[in-house]
Amino acid sequence: MNEADVDFACTICSKCCRDLRLPLTVDEAVDWLSRGGSVQLLCEAVPWLADPPPENLWAAHKLRRSFAGRSGDLPVRVVVILAATFTGPCPNLQPDNRCGIYEERPLVCRIYPAEINPFVEFDSRNKLCPPDAWATGSPALFRGGRLVDARTVELIERSREADANEAPVKAELCRVLGIDRAAIANEGFAVHSPNGGVLLEALRSVRAQASKDGPSARPSGASGEWRLVSNRRASVDALAAVGAVSELAGDHAHASFEYLGLSDPTA
Ligand code: SF4
Ligand code: SF4
Repeated sequence: MNEADVDFACTICSKCCRDLRLPLTVDEAVDWLSRGGSVQLLCEAVPWLADPPPENLWAAHKLRRSFAGRSGDLPVRVVVILAATFTGPCPNLQPDNRCGIYEERPLVCRIYPAEINPFVEFDSRNKLCPPDAWATGSPALFRGGRLVDARTVELIERSREADANEAPVKAELCRVLGIDRAAIANEGFAVHSPNGGVLLEALRSVRAQASKDGPSARPSGASGEWRLVSNRRASVDALAAVGAVSELAGDHAHASFEYLGLSDPTA
Protein backbone atom coordinates (compact mmCIF):
# COMPACT_ATOMS: atom_id res chain seq x y z
CA MET A 1 0.00 0.00 0.00
CA ASN A 2 1.17 3.54 -0.73
CA GLU A 3 1.29 5.09 2.76
CA ALA A 4 1.08 8.62 1.29
CA ASP A 5 -2.48 7.99 0.05
CA VAL A 6 -4.57 5.91 2.44
CA ASP A 7 -8.28 5.18 2.25
CA PHE A 8 -10.00 3.82 5.32
CA ALA A 9 -13.38 2.51 6.46
CA CYS A 10 -13.81 0.79 9.83
CA THR A 11 -15.07 -2.80 9.43
CA ILE A 12 -16.23 -2.94 13.09
CA CYS A 13 -13.96 -5.94 13.71
CA SER A 14 -13.34 -4.70 17.33
CA LYS A 15 -9.68 -5.76 17.30
CA CYS A 16 -8.72 -2.30 18.61
CA CYS A 17 -11.05 -2.67 21.64
CA ARG A 18 -9.10 -5.33 23.59
CA ASP A 19 -6.23 -5.50 26.09
CA LEU A 20 -5.57 -1.79 26.34
CA ARG A 21 -4.32 1.09 28.37
CA LEU A 22 -6.48 3.75 26.76
CA PRO A 23 -5.39 7.39 27.33
CA LEU A 24 -8.24 9.54 28.66
CA THR A 25 -8.90 13.20 29.29
CA VAL A 26 -9.85 14.17 32.84
CA ASP A 27 -13.56 14.32 31.94
CA GLU A 28 -13.33 10.95 30.19
CA ALA A 29 -11.59 9.43 33.22
CA VAL A 30 -14.41 10.68 35.48
CA ASP A 31 -16.98 9.13 33.12
CA TRP A 32 -15.02 5.86 32.81
CA LEU A 33 -14.75 5.47 36.58
CA SER A 34 -18.40 6.45 37.05
CA ARG A 35 -19.35 3.53 34.79
CA GLY A 36 -17.32 1.19 37.03
CA GLY A 37 -14.20 0.95 34.84
CA SER A 38 -10.56 0.98 35.99
CA VAL A 39 -8.22 3.92 35.48
CA GLN A 40 -4.48 4.03 36.15
CA LEU A 41 -1.96 6.87 36.19
CA LEU A 42 1.14 6.37 34.04
CA CYS A 43 3.93 8.71 35.13
CA GLU A 44 7.17 9.61 33.39
CA ALA A 45 9.67 12.43 34.00
CA VAL A 46 12.29 14.21 31.89
CA PRO A 47 15.32 15.95 33.47
CA TRP A 48 14.78 19.62 32.58
CA LEU A 49 17.70 21.94 33.28
CA ALA A 50 16.38 24.75 31.03
CA ASP A 51 13.68 25.29 28.43
CA PRO A 52 15.14 24.26 25.05
CA PRO A 53 14.83 26.48 21.95
CA PRO A 54 11.37 26.46 20.32
CA GLU A 55 12.72 24.70 17.21
CA ASN A 56 13.22 21.60 19.37
CA LEU A 57 9.73 20.27 18.60
CA TRP A 58 10.05 17.12 20.74
CA ALA A 59 10.91 19.22 23.80
CA ALA A 60 8.11 21.70 23.01
CA HIS A 61 5.67 18.79 22.88
CA LYS A 62 6.89 17.47 26.26
CA LEU A 63 6.75 20.96 27.76
CA ARG A 64 3.15 21.52 26.68
CA ARG A 65 1.83 18.33 28.21
CA SER A 66 3.91 18.27 31.42
CA PHE A 67 4.22 20.08 34.74
CA ALA A 68 7.32 21.18 36.58
CA GLY A 69 8.70 19.28 39.53
CA ARG A 70 11.97 18.46 41.27
CA SER A 71 13.86 15.32 42.08
CA GLY A 72 16.35 16.34 44.74
CA ASP A 73 18.63 18.89 43.04
CA LEU A 74 17.36 18.08 39.56
CA PRO A 75 14.50 20.02 37.91
CA VAL A 76 12.19 17.71 35.97
CA ARG A 77 9.06 17.87 33.82
CA VAL A 78 6.49 15.23 34.68
CA VAL A 79 3.96 13.76 32.22
CA VAL A 80 0.96 11.94 33.67
CA ILE A 81 -1.36 9.87 31.49
CA LEU A 82 -4.76 8.81 32.78
CA ALA A 83 -5.42 5.42 31.20
CA ALA A 84 -8.50 3.20 31.16
CA THR A 85 -7.11 -0.29 31.70
CA PHE A 86 -8.61 -3.63 30.77
CA THR A 87 -7.50 -7.10 29.74
CA GLY A 88 -9.62 -8.87 27.16
CA PRO A 89 -12.54 -6.97 25.62
CA CYS A 90 -13.29 -3.39 26.65
CA PRO A 91 -16.08 -3.35 29.25
CA ASN A 92 -18.09 -1.24 26.77
CA LEU A 93 -17.77 -3.67 23.87
CA GLN A 94 -21.11 -5.22 22.88
CA PRO A 95 -21.58 -8.81 21.65
CA ASP A 96 -22.14 -7.49 18.09
CA ASN A 97 -18.67 -5.78 18.20
CA ARG A 98 -20.23 -2.34 18.53
CA CYS A 99 -19.24 0.21 21.15
CA GLY A 100 -21.81 0.48 23.95
CA ILE A 101 -20.86 4.12 24.60
CA TYR A 102 -20.41 5.09 20.96
CA GLU A 103 -21.66 8.67 21.36
CA GLU A 104 -19.51 9.23 24.46
CA ARG A 105 -16.49 7.09 23.55
CA PRO A 106 -13.06 8.57 24.36
CA LEU A 107 -11.26 10.78 21.85
CA VAL A 108 -8.55 8.20 21.37
CA CYS A 109 -11.13 5.65 20.19
CA ARG A 110 -12.48 8.18 17.67
CA ILE A 111 -9.01 9.01 16.35
CA TYR A 112 -7.77 5.44 15.77
CA PRO A 113 -6.23 4.34 13.43
CA ALA A 114 -4.63 7.81 13.00
CA GLU A 115 -1.83 8.77 15.39
CA ILE A 116 -2.24 11.26 18.26
CA ASN A 117 1.49 11.51 18.92
CA PRO A 118 3.01 13.92 16.37
CA PHE A 119 6.32 12.00 16.54
CA VAL A 120 4.83 8.66 15.56
CA GLU A 121 4.60 8.24 11.80
CA PHE A 122 1.45 6.56 10.55
CA ASP A 123 2.04 3.05 9.23
CA SER A 124 -1.00 0.88 8.46
CA ARG A 125 1.15 -2.23 9.07
CA ASN A 126 1.26 -1.27 12.77
CA LYS A 127 -2.52 -1.11 12.98
CA LEU A 128 -4.92 -3.85 13.99
CA CYS A 129 -7.38 -3.15 11.20
CA PRO A 130 -7.93 -5.97 8.66
CA PRO A 131 -6.88 -5.54 5.01
CA ASP A 132 -10.41 -4.72 3.80
CA ALA A 133 -10.49 -1.65 6.08
CA TRP A 134 -7.88 -0.08 3.75
CA ALA A 135 -9.68 -0.88 0.51
CA THR A 136 -9.21 1.71 -2.21
CA GLY A 137 -12.39 3.69 -2.69
CA SER A 138 -13.12 4.02 1.04
CA PRO A 139 -13.11 7.59 2.45
CA ALA A 140 -9.72 9.33 2.20
CA LEU A 141 -7.65 9.31 5.39
CA PHE A 142 -4.24 10.45 4.03
CA ARG A 143 -3.36 12.22 0.80
CA GLY A 144 0.28 12.93 -0.02
CA GLY A 145 1.21 11.78 3.50
CA ARG A 146 -1.10 14.39 5.08
CA LEU A 147 -4.07 13.52 7.25
CA VAL A 148 -7.05 14.86 5.30
CA ASP A 149 -10.03 13.54 7.22
CA ALA A 150 -11.25 16.83 8.73
CA ARG A 151 -13.08 15.22 11.65
CA THR A 152 -9.99 13.24 12.72
CA VAL A 153 -7.79 16.35 12.39
CA GLU A 154 -10.17 18.23 14.70
CA LEU A 155 -10.29 15.37 17.25
CA ILE A 156 -6.48 15.17 17.38
CA GLU A 157 -6.32 18.91 18.00
CA ARG A 158 -8.89 18.60 20.81
CA SER A 159 -6.93 15.76 22.35
CA ARG A 160 -3.65 17.72 22.28
CA GLU A 161 -5.33 20.79 23.76
CA ALA A 162 -6.79 18.73 26.59
CA ASP A 163 -3.37 17.20 27.19
CA ALA A 164 -1.81 20.65 27.57
CA ASN A 165 -4.65 22.27 29.55
CA GLU A 166 -4.91 19.39 32.00
CA ALA A 167 -1.25 19.18 33.03
CA PRO A 168 -1.77 21.43 36.12
CA VAL A 169 -4.88 19.42 37.09
CA LYS A 170 -2.82 16.23 36.96
CA ALA A 171 -0.09 17.85 39.10
CA GLU A 172 -2.69 18.58 41.74
CA LEU A 173 -4.19 15.11 41.37
CA CYS A 174 -0.79 13.51 42.09
CA ARG A 175 -0.34 15.77 45.11
CA VAL A 176 -3.77 14.84 46.50
CA LEU A 177 -3.17 11.11 45.91
CA GLY A 178 0.40 11.18 47.26
CA ILE A 179 1.84 9.94 43.95
CA ASP A 180 5.54 10.79 43.73
CA ARG A 181 7.17 8.09 41.56
CA ALA A 182 7.83 8.58 37.85
CA ALA A 183 9.85 6.52 35.40
CA ILE A 184 12.53 8.17 33.29
CA ALA A 185 10.89 9.22 30.03
CA ASN A 186 11.46 6.86 27.10
CA GLU A 187 12.58 4.07 29.47
CA GLY A 188 9.16 3.20 30.87
CA PHE A 189 6.29 4.30 33.08
CA ALA A 190 5.56 4.13 36.78
CA VAL A 191 1.99 2.81 36.80
CA HIS A 192 -0.13 3.81 39.79
CA SER A 193 -3.45 2.09 40.43
CA PRO A 194 -5.36 3.93 43.16
CA ASN A 195 -8.69 2.62 44.37
CA GLY A 196 -11.36 3.59 41.82
CA GLY A 197 -13.62 5.37 44.32
CA VAL A 198 -10.71 7.35 45.77
CA LEU A 199 -9.49 8.32 42.30
CA LEU A 200 -12.97 9.38 41.18
CA GLU A 201 -13.44 11.59 44.21
CA ALA A 202 -9.96 13.13 43.78
CA LEU A 203 -10.55 13.77 40.07
CA ARG A 204 -13.90 15.44 40.72
CA SER A 205 -12.39 17.57 43.44
CA VAL A 206 -9.33 18.78 41.46
CA ARG A 207 -11.46 19.36 38.36
CA ALA A 208 -13.98 21.45 40.32
CA GLN A 209 -11.20 23.48 41.91
CA ALA A 210 -9.49 24.08 38.55
CA SER A 211 -12.72 25.26 36.97
CA LYS A 212 -13.41 27.55 39.96
CA ASP A 213 -9.89 29.04 39.88
CA GLY A 214 -9.74 29.44 36.09
CA PRO A 215 -6.67 29.22 33.85
CA SER A 216 -4.94 32.25 35.43
CA ALA A 217 -4.60 30.38 38.75
CA ARG A 218 -2.85 27.40 37.20
CA PRO A 219 0.49 26.73 38.88
CA SER A 220 3.47 27.29 36.62
CA GLY A 221 6.28 26.64 39.09
CA ALA A 222 7.73 23.52 40.62
CA SER A 223 5.12 21.07 41.77
CA GLY A 224 6.28 18.49 44.23
CA GLU A 225 9.24 16.26 44.88
CA TRP A 226 9.56 13.21 42.64
CA ARG A 227 11.48 9.95 42.90
CA LEU A 228 12.77 8.76 39.54
CA VAL A 229 12.51 5.04 38.88
CA SER A 230 14.37 2.97 36.33
CA ASN A 231 15.01 -0.69 35.61
CA ARG A 232 18.58 0.21 34.58
CA ARG A 233 21.21 0.45 37.29
CA ALA A 234 23.29 2.81 35.07
CA SER A 235 20.38 5.30 34.84
CA VAL A 236 19.72 5.18 38.59
CA ASP A 237 23.42 5.84 39.34
CA ALA A 238 23.71 8.62 36.73
CA LEU A 239 20.69 10.42 38.24
CA ALA A 240 22.01 10.01 41.79
CA ALA A 241 25.34 11.50 40.63
CA VAL A 242 23.60 14.76 39.63
CA GLY A 243 21.68 14.98 42.91
CA ALA A 244 18.37 13.40 41.84
CA VAL A 245 16.42 11.01 44.06
CA SER A 246 16.42 7.77 42.09
CA GLU A 247 15.63 4.12 42.73
CA LEU A 248 15.84 0.82 40.92
CA ALA A 249 12.47 -0.63 39.91
CA GLY A 250 11.59 -3.60 42.08
CA ASP A 251 13.84 -2.50 44.97
CA HIS A 252 10.83 -2.16 47.25
CA ALA A 253 8.90 -5.34 47.92
CA HIS A 254 5.69 -3.43 48.75
CA ALA A 255 5.94 -0.80 46.06
CA SER A 256 2.72 1.17 45.58
CA PHE A 257 3.25 1.14 41.82
CA GLU A 258 4.19 -1.17 38.99
CA TYR A 259 7.13 -0.46 36.66
CA LEU A 260 6.30 -0.83 32.99
CA GLY A 261 9.64 -0.99 31.15
CA LEU A 262 9.82 -0.05 27.49
CA SER A 263 13.40 -1.22 27.00
CA ASP A 264 15.73 -4.07 27.87
CA PRO A 265 17.42 -3.12 31.17
CA THR A 266 20.62 -4.88 30.10
CA ALA A 267 20.87 -3.13 26.71
S1 SF4 B 1 -14.86 2.63 24.50
FE1 SF4 B 1 -15.87 1.70 22.72
S2 SF4 B 1 -14.52 2.18 20.97
FE2 SF4 B 1 -13.34 2.52 22.87
S3 SF4 B 1 -12.24 0.59 23.27
FE3 SF4 B 1 -14.19 0.49 24.38
S4 SF4 B 1 -15.65 -0.52 23.00
FE4 SF4 B 1 -13.90 0.16 21.77
S1 SF4 C 1 -9.30 -2.44 14.32
FE1 SF4 C 1 -9.72 -0.91 12.71
S2 SF4 C 1 -11.35 -1.82 11.48
FE2 SF4 C 1 -11.32 -2.95 13.41
S3 SF4 C 1 -12.81 -1.88 14.72
FE3 SF4 C 1 -10.80 -0.96 15.12
S4 SF4 C 1 -10.70 0.82 13.77
FE4 SF4 C 1 -12.35 -0.51 12.99
